[in-house]
Amino acid sequence: MSDIVNRFATGAPQNLEERFASRAAHMKPSEIRSLFAVASRPEIVSLAGGMPNLSDFPMPMMADVMSKLILSNGAEALQYGSGQGHPKLREQICEVMALEGIRANPDDVLVTTGSQQALDLISRIFIDPGDVVLAEAPSYVGALGTFHQYEASVIHVETDDSGLVPQALREAIVSVRAAGRKIKFLYMIPNYHNPSGVLLTTERRTEILTICRDAGIFVVEDNPYGLLGFDKPSPNAMRAEDSENVIYLGTFSKTIAPGLRVGWALVPPSLKEKLVIASESSILCPSNFAQLAISSYLAEQPWRDQISSFCDLYKVRRDAMLESLDEYFPAVAKWTKPGGGFYVWVTLPPEIDTTALMPKAIVAKVAYVPGTAFYSDGFGSWSLRLSYCYPTPERIRDGVKALGGVIKTEMSRRGSNQIS
Ligand code: PMP
Repeated sequence: MSDIVNRFATGAPQNLEERFASRAAHMKPSEIRSLFAVASRPEIVSLAGGMPNLSDFPMPMMADVMSKLILSNGAEALQYGSGQGHPKLREQICEVMALEGIRANPDDVLVTTGSQQALDLISRIFIDPGDVVLAEAPSYVGALGTFHQYEASVIHVETDDSGLVPQALREAIVSVRAAGRKIKFLYMIPNYHNPSGVLLTTERRTEILTICRDAGIFVVEDNPYGLLGFDKPSPNAMRAEDSENVIYLGTFSKTIAPGLRVGWALVPPSLKEKLVIASESSILCPSNFAQLAISSYLAEQPWRDQISSFCDLYKVRRDAMLESLDEYFPAVAKWTKPGGGFYVWVTLPPEIDTTALMPKAIVAKVAYVPGTAFYSDGFGSWSLRLSYCYPTPERIRDGVKALGGVIKTEMSRRGSNQIS
């Protein structure tokens, strides 16, 4: 009886959807998460994921670094640390960034749990629902998901084989502002882009920085792949040219190991306090153990040589992929020729829907990421991303051959005469 009385007094229970905050409606599983479950089956050649290849990472050496760390400095390594990150690691991060021409003060560095957390923090302090974020077309799926959760409207800006097109950026800024909307920042990946593999030219870097500075728009420079250039040294980071208007994101995920989850943001001094507070509210402090493990590794081990050896390993795989694309893909397909990083972006004839093609590719034992994952507006249906970082060169050849076959079959089913 008393239960019934209480029910009437407090109202009927709400359904789960009503109990969520409205922002939870924008939390959707990434298009590629379900794909990875399939792609990780051993019989499938996965050209989908962007997992770094740790096959030649010196594990015994890392085990040694970690055990020494615990035995000699465990009380610090296993304790909470500073919200901004360990001071020694912040100094070493400045040395790493110096390789790309950046002169920075460790006090302007915030250590994060991977650069993904930095993307989240930046979104949290800048984006109100409906604000505009400009991003390359296509752009990194993980960043798009974060911007979307904070209810940004992402407007893509045209890119070509030299990266983001400055004139298209000018036009986008004018048209967004003419519609009375606020642009919060330009998000870009200038080095060996994810998903396109493209390197932004030096001239365009300067031009884009000038456009954004003049327009009062921050540039978020996301740079996980900058040190993974195969054929020539990477150009200077955009942050090297502009310390006031660029928020630079770095990570050790691709140059050391992603499992340690250590990244960072180098920010203009005016933004640091807000970002530190935002980070403290989500994680209190980044893992001291992971930070000190990286710090000891950087101090004691030949980390530059290890990055060169990663580059050699990825270059062989890049070559295997480009050669097999030449051999097995239809002549009408186009693809980028990356000079570093992990990815090749393939463009097929517009009638081929790469999302619809995916089940056929899985039957042929190969996986890729359909192009629409890299756009916020449903564009990209006839493109796809291939990654060469993880499988062996032989598996890459098998996978590209299988996928080429699937695409050619689809084209002939549609009566195309451009196969060959
Ligand atoms: N940005 C880009 C462009 C990426 O490719 C990735 C990882 N795939 C990240 C950010 C996130 O990296 P992490 O959180 O491991 O540092």
